[in-house]
Amino acid sequence: MPTLTDRRHDWKFVLELYRLDPDGEDGEQIANAKVKSDFDPIVEAARFELLKRDPRPFMQIGAEPACVEPVWHELLGEPYVESIRVVVSPHDASPAECLAPTAFFRVHAEAAAAKLISEGVLDPEEKFRYLVTAYARDTDVIAKQPAFTIEPVAQDLHLEPKSLTDLFHRSRPMGPVRDDEVPVFVPQFILDECCERLHATGAAETGGILLGQLAFDPESHRLFLEVTAQIPAQHTQQELTSLTFTPETWSAVDAAIRLRGSDEMQLGWWHTHPAREWCKNCPEENRRVCKRSGEFFSSDDAALHRTVFPRAYSVGLVISDSYASGLTFPMFGWNRGLVEQRGFHVLRD
Ligand SMILES: [Zn+2]
Repeated sequence: MPTLTDRRHDWKFVLELYRLDPDGEDGEQIANAKVKSDFDPIVEAARFELLKRDPRPFMQIGAEPACVEPVWHELLGEPYVESIRVVVSPHDASPAECLAPTAFFRVHAEAAAAKLISEGVLDPEEKFRYLVTAYARDTDVIAKQPAFTIEPVAQDLHLEPKSLTDLFHRSRPMGPVRDDEVPVFVPQFILDECCERLHATGAAETGGILLGQLAFDPESHRLFLEVTAQIPAQHTQQELTSLTFTPETWSAVDAAIRLRGSDEMQLGWWHTHPAREWCKNCPEENRRVCKRSGEFFSSDDAALHRTVFPRAYSVGLVISDSYASGLTFPMFGWNRGLVEQRGFHVLRD
């Protein structure tokens, strides 16, 4: 008998899109766009808080019912939304929450704007902005939704107890490291392996899967990720600037995990941005001043990350080589339901 309720459908979110004047002031409202949002990334983030709060060697995560609700805008008030709050309530512990910014809806706003451009309402050169509103659904609609959703994705996690102090001693930070983030450690030899693949594949993007362990420090109770291997995706359908993983990749990854027998799991993925190759045909004088770098997550990269690496701890490492910045290793990961750049620590071999 379910005693807890999964409440993700109680609110209807609507975006108000406004044209921006050339001087950046709000112009007329041009559309209302109903959002069919999937709040899973924020639910994941809230569940991750449970893990961070009390890491233990054996944990199960993913079955806690979630409640999604708007936090009203401080100045504009209801129905304008300042952030989205997701509360997860495990049956045996106090609830945990995640507050996601309205930037969570940016992809929806961009999709709505693209539609307006195709309809000729918005000019491709014009700027727009959006406000998020929320309205309580009537109880009829809520009643039609399942009151309790059985989540088939509950995950059994084995967390390795390990000293964080030692890892910090043996590593150097790379990229925008934040203190409130779960630290990620990547050995130098893995970066080297990825670079070798970058140089071997020329203009095509290549990539692979990052394996490793979710671990916690028994003294500080801090959770962290340690990458221990990378499995190159031998069977990707490569095109010049995009990468997809095929079923063959996944069977190779499963086989590697079994073979290595060290209780590793998929922590994320890596892929290359051979920006130097993208600029190969540009004249030398242009290249010298070219600002084009590969240090970004494209919308395709973000979409792949959302679909294939939805866990709150999943990371995506980019191996970028450009005239502008040389060889760099920007890492991306989840932050409050959004995919953003983050830092990590490079472990000396
Ligand atoms: Zn990419």
